[in-house]
Amino acid sequence: MSKFIATQAIRGAKKIVSQAEQLLKKAIQEKGESQKVQLPDTAFYLPMCYALLGYEVKTLKDMYVPLNEAKSLLHEEPSESLYLPYLGPALDSGIATLLAEEIITAIRYLYNEEPQPDCEGFFSDTILRTLGIQLVDGRLPGFAAILGSTEDNQTAVEIVRELQKRQILVFVGSSSNGKSIIDQLKQENVEMSWDTYIVPYGRDTITVIYPLNWAIRAALSFGGVKPGNAKQALLYCKERVFAFAIALGPLDEEKWATGAGAINMGFPAIADTDVPEIRPTGICTYEHVVKQLDHKKIVQTAVDVRGLKVRVREIDIPVAFSSAFEGERVRKEQTFVEFGSKYSKSFELLITKDINEVEDGKIELIGPDIDQMGYNLDSPELPFAMPLGLIVEVAGKKMQKDYESIVERQIHHYLNFAMGIFHMGQRDQNWIRISKQAFKSGFRLKHLGKILHYGLHEHFPALIDKLQVKIITDEHKVNELLKEARKIYEERDERLAGLTDEAVDTFYSCTLCQSYAPNHVCVITPEKPGLCGAYNWFDGKVAYEINPKGMNQPIPKGRCIDPIKGEWEGVNEFVYKYSNRAVERFCNYSIMEYPTTSCGCFECIIAILPECNGFMVVNRGYTGMTPVGMTFSTLAGSVGGGNQTPGFLGVGRLYLLSKKFLVPEGGLKRIVWMTKELKEFLGDKLKKRCEEIGEPDLVDKIADETITTDSAQLLEFLTKVNHPALSLPSLI
Ligand code: SF4
Repeated sequence: MSKFIATQAIRGAKKIVSQAEQLLKKAIQEKGESQKVQLPDTAFYLPMCYALLGYEVKTLKDMYVPLNEAKSLLHEEPSESLYLPYLGPALDSGIATLLAEEIITAIRYLYNEEPQPDCEGFFSDTILRTLGIQLVDGRLPGFAAILGSTEDNQTAVEIVRELQKRQILVFVGSSSNGKSIIDQLKQENVEMSWDTYIVPYGRDTITVIYPLNWAIRAALSFGGVKPGNAKQALLYCKERVFAFAIALGPLDEEKWATGAGAINMGFPAIADTDVPEIRPTGICTYEHVVKQLDHKKIVQTAVDVRGLKVRVREIDIPVAFSSAFEGERVRKEQTFVEFGSKYSKSFELLITKDINEVEDGKIELIGPDIDQMGYNLDSPELPFAMPLGLIVEVAGKKMQKDYESIVERQIHHYLNFAMGIFHMGQRDQNWIRISKQAFKSGFRLKHLGKILHYGLHEHFPALIDKLQVKIITDEHKVNELLKEARKIYEERDERLAGLTDEAVDTFYSCTLCQSYAPNHVCVITPEKPGLCGAYNWFDGKVAYEINPKGMNQPIPKGRCIDPIKGEWEGVNEFVYKYSNRAVERFCNYSIMEYPTTSCGCFECIIAILPECNGFMVVNRGYTGMTPVGMTFSTLAGSVGGGNQTPGFLGVGRLYLLSKKFLVPEGGLKRIVWMTKELKEFLGDKLKKRCEEIGEPDLVDKIADETITTDSAQLLEFLTKVNHPALSLPSLI
């Protein structure tokens, strides 16, 4: 450890802890010590404090526990004359800094000073569940926290693009020389969001705590580490969360102190300035602090130092290709050509063929290419539109007609992985844009075929033996083939829509969430998707075909015990075995009697409102209060974890439209409140379902947060509109 770094880190920690103390005193003076404090959408209180100390901070007064711990970890600076070891004190300062930064940001939230403009602020548990699992199971190779700024904007863009190419999640923020990389990227029109894997956390160094307390939650959530087991939590981060920092521009005491905190978690820092290095390994897997003055090499240096297993996909197209580009939009002014939407006819279709009819890798273009339409990059008419038909023909011993739409759905993902290509929608509702930059780099229509050939083989190696792509731009031919495609879509819909739980003898399990809810089992049926909304019955079936030893196993239904509640002998046996013998009975359609377990990544929570004789539904992402007196995150904390909680149930959003929705309790007629966002998402389908059950006005009778979040007022509203739940038998 460098004496210079230790001195800087200790000084920085003292400043930040003192800042936290002053802020806390002021907040207590102004709001009282029993004032509640809460970071948004988390069940982990102040996560760093909860993980390291096992302490639940709920009020301002509670903050004295992490604050006093932080103060106890402060040390004197290394002496010039007397040598004493300073690695320990520097690392202690790091932990003190993290605890203090968390206090500061939580108090800022209390005063509505966070998140900062254009920044994400605290990363919610929702994000932890969706992206965190990918981080610890290796689908995402790691994350980088960038602090500071570069001299010119272009260098900042290039560093971020290099990280994206490697699928590394990038958190950007802090400042140096009075500017933040956030503003540099904004000025260069780089889209920053979770979808693009570029997330701005905040413009000061205190906010670096957001990526760090996100990482520590992974230890509690996915690593099963008990709160308070600091050593295990830090070790988990070192071994399973592949993170590092890139410091751009001069480093001050605050940055060194925060960096010392990150080193405790095994996260090294790579600086672009002439800093003293810490090369010996130990706390980190490789080196702790490394300099790389060449911006063109800084990302590769970081990847090497952190030891990331990065897979850059080698695919023969002239633009970068990575899932990190999936969420990137191509705006109208950036577009060279577009297909579909309201601009032209366009469709995509995947069909199964006999093995002899498919020539693997063949890409056929029927009609002109995008450079043969008389437009160039200077044409004033840009973007122009062209008709397009994309027909993917696959063959494989295990490929079945039923799988076609599942495989077809992946077209969307893979086309979006190419930088400068935008894809939205599906079937004959798709919309594709190719950017001017991609065209300039040499991207042509055959490259769409190359992407699909590569991507679908990669995604479905067990299903697809051969794959060829037809790309049609001839207008007459597109119109002709579109008619045939529509017939196929209709046939598929009829097959899917007609599929009921009674019609199959096998359901599929999903136990993916057992990594953090050890007793949880999703039983996925044709009429009930997984709680996260990401898996339906067909997905379970296909996933089992692809990987028979995976998380999706067939469940023979066996003898039906109760068709109304949805209870089968085979399901009970399976769930008992796979829930570690914790769950003996599973009524798949009931919320009151032996309901299904709820893991934690459900899209919605249904909760009983006994005074209204019905249920409310709140979706993830809604942060306001609900009539049950709890926010989504508080409810999730008590409902999740893989338990059966009668009266409370985690579900996927589309389950609300199912004919098997809470059948024993009266179904949709019991829903008395749901968020506006959920109503809008379900839209016309919800209205149609209400008509089917003979309650055409039900959507208007279901209250939302714009009507009330108070249960007494809700009852008044329900009485006024004569809600059907009030006439149903009592729930309790
Ligand atoms: S909620 Fe269910 S279906 Fe979704 S990942 Fe978890 S276990 Fe699988």
